[in-house]
Amino acid sequence: MTAHPNSLAARDIAYHLHPYTNARRHERQGPIVIDRGEGIYVYDDQGHQMIEAMAGLWSVALGFGESRLVEAAAKQMSRLPYYHSFSHKTHEPGVELAEKLVKMTPDGLDHVFFTNSGSEANDTVVKMVWYYNNSLNRPEKKKFIARNGGYHGITVAAGSLTGLQVNQKGFDLPLDFARHVTCPHHYRFANPGESEEQFATRLAEELEATILAEGPETVAAFIGEPVMGAGGVLVPPAGYWEKVQAVCRKYDVLVVADEVINGFGRTGTMFACEQFGIKPDILVLSKQITSSYLPLAAVVISDQVYQGIADETERLGTFGHGYTATAHPVSTAVGLENLKIIEERDLVANGARVGERLGKGLKALADHPLVGEVRGLGLIWAVELVADKATKATFETPGKLGTYIFERGHEHGIIIRAIRDTIAFCPPMIITEEEVDELLRRFELTLADATEWLAKGMPAA
Ligand code: PMP
Repeated sequence: MTAHPNSLAARDIAYHLHPYTNARRHERQGPIVIDRGEGIYVYDDQGHQMIEAMAGLWSVALGFGESRLVEAAAKQMSRLPYYHSFSHKTHEPGVELAEKLVKMTPDGLDHVFFTNSGSEANDTVVKMVWYYNNSLNRPEKKKFIARNGGYHGITVAAGSLTGLQVNQKGFDLPLDFARHVTCPHHYRFANPGESEEQFATRLAEELEATILAEGPETVAAFIGEPVMGAGGVLVPPAGYWEKVQAVCRKYDVLVVADEVINGFGRTGTMFACEQFGIKPDILVLSKQITSSYLPLAAVVISDQVYQGIADETERLGTFGHGYTATAHPVSTAVGLENLKIIEERDLVANGARVGERLGKGLKALADHPLVGEVRGLGLIWAVELVADKATKATFETPGKLGTYIFERGHEHGIIIRAIRDTIAFCPPMIITEEEVDELLRRFELTLADATEWLAKGMPAA
């Protein structure tokens, strides 16, 4: 696409630096201008309709035209458009949403701190855990263990927990407090003949060895997404979370569940922790909390962590952490209405039911010569493409096929995500069975084009 000099696209090239975009390529090629949305669809400025099969960034649970969220925002805007929660101030939507989250989330999580993004939430987690251990007079106990392939955001602390090179290379990350252990992906990282249980046992042993090598008195927390998202939609092997938590408890290491993608029904239950028997000390939520209509994230903590922090605020005089928009009244009002709609329409059950159809449709592609693994649950799925099914060999230039499929998908009216050569699907939770069938049809057309392109030797467009 060559952008007209006066077009929105040309102005975008002149003024924006985009996330996850090669800036030079962007200057040559120009952006796709997304103009409006309705239900599971978005439309570009040429009127081309696309199924948003990633719900934006794994987040628009209610789709793109939920007028009740617009009304909730407008109502709050006219009553109290802004207030902060510093220095003993509060407001109704902030209190109500905090109360709601404590009631909804797994037992043992009793207090909420709001931020504007998942990254800020995870930075907050790191600072809270440090503060907590200072309160307990354990100044050495500060390290976090995360996993390769994990995603926890891009700010300096959260970006250190993330286990993806793309977010660290060139940014001088990770910082020294973060360690990473093996990614719990059986298809890629299990030894030949190793069962899921055996693989999970080996990973728990690796975690224990890491804690012992670092010194348990220096390890504060273990953080993981119950089901990994940005790393490629990775469902953990059977027994993984049970074994990992046992190791954490043994060494007094806090368990942090990052449900920024998983939370509010994405994996088929309200929280993925329920399915995997995770009893976190800290739970991190965002994205579907407002269907991303407004920015909001929440850190939900146990009473034990809260009490430690509270003691330290007494000693130091105050909890010197917070954002201008912490518990923003309009965001929290939209969050409350969004959660009300998810419950009223039973969208968690819908996601589980319709997700099964999506999974079945994708699994039907398992015999395709390019398909290595189809994996997922609820309404989050992925298809990993490989050069050789038998050896699971990746392509010579990883990501080239994925990029082709991502771009070709636009032509066929579908927005998917290519994680190197793994194609991710995470549609809005309101999607119907008919819409799932249409999504599958459009993906199959895209995959057929990709197969042909590959057979021709991947010629340049
Ligand atoms: N944690 C997880 C699991 C995420 O998927 C993301 C975002 N994709 C984040 C944290 C960071 O959230 P944000 O982009 O809002 O900073």
